[in-house]
Amino acid sequence: MVLADVHGRRLRNLRLSVTDKCNLRCAYCMPEENYVWLPRDDILTFDEIAQVVDAFVAAGVDKVRLTGGEPLLRRNLPYLIERLAAKPGIRDLALTTNGVLLSELAASLKNAGLHRVTVSLDTLRADRFVSIARRNDLHHVLAGIDAARSAGFQGTKIDTVVMRGVNDDEVFDLLDYARDVRAELRFIEYMDVGGATRWSRDKVVSKAELLERIATRHGPITAIPATDDESKSAPAERFAMSDGTSFGIVASTTAPFCGACDRSRLTADGSWYLCLYAKLGIDLKKPLRAGESTEQLKERIERAWRLREDRGAERRLALHEARGALHDDDELRKDPRLEMHTRGG
Ligand code: SAM
Ligand code: SF4
Ligand code: SF4
Repeated sequence: MVLADVHGRRLRNLRLSVTDKCNLRCAYCMPEENYVWLPRDDILTFDEIAQVVDAFVAAGVDKVRLTGGEPLLRRNLPYLIERLAAKPGIRDLALTTNGVLLSELAASLKNAGLHRVTVSLDTLRADRFVSIARRNDLHHVLAGIDAARSAGFQGTKIDTVVMRGVNDDEVFDLLDYARDVRAELRFIEYMDVGGATRWSRDKVVSKAELLERIATRHGPITAIPATDDESKSAPAERFAMSDGTSFGIVASTTAPFCGACDRSRLTADGSWYLCLYAKLGIDLKKPLRAGESTEQLKERIERAWRLREDRGAERRLALHEARGALHDDDELRKDPRLEMHTRGG
């Protein structure tokens, strides 16, 4: 029997955070310099991750995306990838990275069996990179994107969070850049979630505005229809410009896609979140460390998923004018799992 939640949504996609640590400090994700990190002993080992992933796969997951924090900071990550890539139930094994360490690791990630990479890149200007990410690493990220291509990765995506007055003047430059490096650019609407304590509605550049701007410059844009179940539940809508360049928009803020959401998130310490906006997670580390079998964990996952009602982004949208940042710094300090860099974005 197919596992579905209260709204008939299947469980297919797992975003697996392998660390909450990061080598950047993007202001829209990590507001402060000093954090409460997850306790070291709580971080799941590779054996624990492998077992919990087996339970998720048994419950229906067939797409796994490694994330963080910055996943490339996790020691021996290629070895974990090798173990996950060997699981026949995982059809798609991807990684989201800020790219800083990618030039060092691209070849070993590819050899380990990773299928695809997504690199986050919000600007092509070194000084702006420093003001957004608070580290001087643009050259490393660009070298990382080149290295991914040289290592043989195909279908690479570049994710850009567009923020008015911050980087929205680089929309065309980023499109040109992505085309030149044979990656597909995806514009992500700025979200009010987790550490985005400086979020405000006026900083969001909506899907509608982006499409209008791109069409004014480049001529008519056609939507690339989602044909199968899988692309229907994908967060990005895809579009093509008249020269054939394709790009995506993830309209999580102004046109949320909760109705088709098959995603959930596991933090590096084994808390399972059924929605990006969920306040509380389900502790899977405790039963895992108490010796529950994979079958028992699978049943636990299934029971929780059947009760899932979350539609976090839609509920936020319904607030209209009253909408502001979801949390303040104090709240985030009390519970590090509310942060985007802990939930994995
Ligand atoms: N460190 C890796 C990276 O930056 O790609 C992986 C983790 S990061 C939390 C995953 C994604 O979340 C990144 O693409 C980042 O841009 C996105 N993100 C973080 N905060 C966001 C926000 N407030 N709105 C939209 N996207 C956000
Ligand atoms: Fe930036 Fe990703 Fe690190 Fe967040 S986790 S600060 S988005 S690099
Ligand atoms: Fe899924 Fe929650 Fe995001 Fe909606 S807000 S798409 S339910 S994770």
